[in-house]
Amino acid sequence: MPPRPVCVKCCVEMRVEHTGVFVIIWTSTLEGFVEYAIWSGDQLRCPVCDAGFVARFPNVPISRQHEPRFQSELRRVRGQSRVPVHEVGGPPQEG
Ligand SMILES: [Zn+2]
Repeated sequence: MPPRPVCVKCCVEMRVEHTGVFVIIWTSTLEGFVEYAIWSGDQLRCPVCDAGFVARFPNVPISRQHEPRFQSELRRVRGQSRVPVHEVGGPPQEG
């Protein structure tokens, strides 16, 4: 089996913190920021320096913007509390 992702600072394999976390990718349009795709990946963390990231995505997302079920999938993902949801590339957060 290949190694898990490696922390280049600490030279150790990352620990899997959560499997199947959600990543919602936003994009900027003329009308403003909109959600574009929902992905599922594994959240990994370095056991030494605590750096973390989400990786090990499958080849296809859970849903994309143009699909009829996209809005209901967004509600489902944001409505659960079992695993973290990461919003990427959305509008700047206030303060
Ligand atoms: Zn590290």
